[in-house]
Amino acid sequence: MTIRFDGRVAIVTGAGAGLGRSHALGLAERGAKVAVLDMGGALDGSGGSATAAEQVVAEIEAAGGEAMACAVDVTDFAAVTAAVGEVLARWGRVDILVNNAGILRDRTFAKMEMDDFRKVVEVHLMGSVHCTKAVWDTMRQQNYGRIVFTSSSSGLYGNFGQSNYGAAKAAMVGLMNVLHLEGRKHDIRVNTLAPTAATRMTEQLMSPEALELLRPEFITPGVLYLVSDVAPSRTILGAGAGVFAQTVITETEGVYLDEAQRTPEGVAAHFAAISDPANESVLTEAFHQTDKFVRMAAKHKGVD
Ligand code: NAD
Repeated sequence: MTIRFDGRVAIVTGAGAGLGRSHALGLAERGAKVAVLDMGGALDGSGGSATAAEQVVAEIEAAGGEAMACAVDVTDFAAVTAAVGEVLARWGRVDILVNNAGILRDRTFAKMEMDDFRKVVEVHLMGSVHCTKAVWDTMRQQNYGRIVFTSSSSGLYGNFGQSNYGAAKAAMVGLMNVLHLEGRKHDIRVNTLAPTAATRMTEQLMSPEALELLRPEFITPGVLYLVSDVAPSRTILGAGAGVFAQTVITETEGVYLDEAQRTPEGVAAHFAAISDPANESVLTEAFHQTDKFVRMAAKHKGVD
């Protein structure tokens, strides 16, 4: 099987540098027309210039591909909508959206300014919401769409000094879960990437040896799979240094506590059993949890 994107139109946000640039080059190399959306700002989100997006477009064109630059800030919904309009006017469809644009404003929570918390949520969460909303109707009408959100191990597992970033990155999973359900009937598949790579975001944090193993282009094959015709949906794919792994949220079997035990002390006394992973499962809709709990309670009361 060869994965190709001939005839497909992709938008990659934050594609002027780092991981987004690598994803844009990878998509174009395999036949996609690529909109390189990037505001060209600094790591903390300040400043901006069209040069970053234009340079990646020039690289794609030099390699024989087709691309257009959109020097747009993902926090500006009107500008994002206008950019998607330009993509549609030029190429007639949007098949793939890779939400990748991101910034950092790290501080411990004790020292965190609310403006820095809000700005990070605004770029990662609302930026992804804006771009996805701007292509959603088109994908529904086409009965085809592939969307990737970019999360982080910081959001999935936590990282000291990144309460703003971790919260925004965990939100990617919630957004994916719901859009997977809402997009399913239109063959819109929605996945999340948790990358780790050597870019300006991480270059101060690791040794030169580790950075050499963490090249951004080692992540891109995972993204290309997640936006391909054979993509899964609702997958959280970790990627870095040539390693790919899946993150899964599970729920333990659970324990029914009768009226006598249904006290804080009863929860404490049963906590080992409540948290026992032996028969944990993966739930695929919110109400499956309610159904499970109601079934367990009914069984114990002898009413099932
Ligand atoms: P990077 O700084 O090299 O690239 C980010 C790009 O996003 C830049 O070109 C920047 O101009 C653009 N951008 C920032 N804010 C924007 C906005 N409001 N509108 C449009 N463009 C904007 O960073 P990177 O390491 O390539 O990160 C890419 C994504 O991967 C980010 O979402 C980041 O949080 C995530 N991530 C990276 C790592 C890593 O190890 N590098 C780990 C986990 C998650």
